Amino acid sequence: MLAIPADVLLQVHEATNGQALFLIEDMSFSDWASLVPVMQTRPQDLSDKIKELASNIADVCKKAAIENKELNLIVAKAKKVILGLHGYDTTHLDTAGWVSTNDTADTFTDNYISSIALTPAELEYFKQKEVMRRQSAHLDISSSARDTSHKFAKNSPFLPLASSTWTEKAMQRVHNRSWKLDTFNYTAPISVNAYMALADLTAADIDNCHTAARNATIYFPAGRAGLDADFPPISSLEKGKCSQRPLLHQKGIPKFPADLLELKKLWNGGRPFLKCPCPGCEANFTWLDHMIWYIIGNLDKLDPLAPSDKIRMLEFQALLRTSWKKPVLAQITFTFMREYMLKILHLVTENRNITPEEILGFEDFKNVPFVRKFTAALLPNAEGLLAQTPSRRNGSIDFEDNSLRRCTSTADHGRRKTWLENQQRKR
Ligand SMILES: [Zn+2]
Repeated sequence: MLAIPADVLLQVHEATNGQALFLIEDMSFSDWASLVPVMQTRPQDLSDKIKELASNIADVCKKAAIENKELNLIVAKAKKVILGLHGYDTTHLDTAGWVSTNDTADTFTDNYISSIALTPAELEYFKQKEVMRRQSAHLDISSSARDTSHKFAKNSPFLPLASSTWTEKAMQRVHNRSWKLDTFNYTAPISVNAYMALADLTAADIDNCHTAARNATIYFPAGRAGLDADFPPISSLEKGKCSQRPLLHQKGIPKFPADLLELKKLWNGGRPFLKCPCPGCEANFTWLDHMIWYIIGNLDKLDPLAPSDKIRMLEFQALLRTSWKKPVLAQITFTFMREYMLKILHLVTENRNITPEEILGFEDFKNVPFVRKFTAALLPNAEGLLAQTPSRRNGSIDFEDNSLRRCTSTADHGRRKTWLENQQRKR
């Protein structure tokens, strides 16, 4: 999918040739993308970069194998804490996911193998095959990647805790149609560095995204006219969907969830999405990153007349560098917001009695408006956080910002009341 010259492919091929873990097969999309700027601007460093990837690959595969085994358990544990905190039933988690999937034990028992009387040569060959099976455990992604239409069903997973390595394999399984995974909450496995390389962004661009994430800035609010940047119609990603050109919007910063569905959608606060402009149209939505990932795997959707994949890749990168640059910056901003969300989730999973003040006291979290807003949305007892006026370093709080905060606070109070009434009705 990336236009990588043949001599670079050969270098990657030779870096681990003959070894069990083969770099050229196990490199992620983001790894490949990270080679692009090296090839373009520092070709003398390319062989060192490839050596570095080769020396890390065994470790990457080992981590992926552990994740494949433990992911269900990690997600179930965190989900139990979050659902419990919001007063929802967690009994389905007492068994589900608690058994590690498919331990890489022997495929057959020793008794069985000795009963079929293999010759020494046969036994030797069979043992070698077993070793190879164990070494490719990192490829064996768990059943959570199954295609299902019940994304927000009661027991569906919703915490986006899988690594990008896992997500990339899961997405291949659904032919890069990321929206077919069992939750909408996974993002495409494109790292910030990969976006930087593809869209030719500078360190200053990335700094701006970081600041926007900290300040919970939404560039393209859902209530206003969206950005028209020549996005492909959603029908080109999937037959039967809307054929109008979609516009870009972003989800707002989440408020305290009034019900379970909102709790599951909390993790997409700030996320850019495409939606067609026609009123009442149902088949009309996709996340921006899901569209980008699908297009990377299906470049012909972008320009069916282009003479080759190389040209298609260049055309795609040209789009990212021009009319899709702002959308990409919004996506990177969301990536940083998601990092904050997952850090907060981690703290709450480690200690479910943690107070909002303890969360805000963490070094990276001090004076970060996004952290304050998300903590208020996640913890049932954190309403007070929204009433506090933060001290901003530049002191530039405009009137609109202030009045918005007051509105949010009143609206939030209403949502907590609804949630509380729901909880009481359940008892
Ligand atoms: Zn439509």
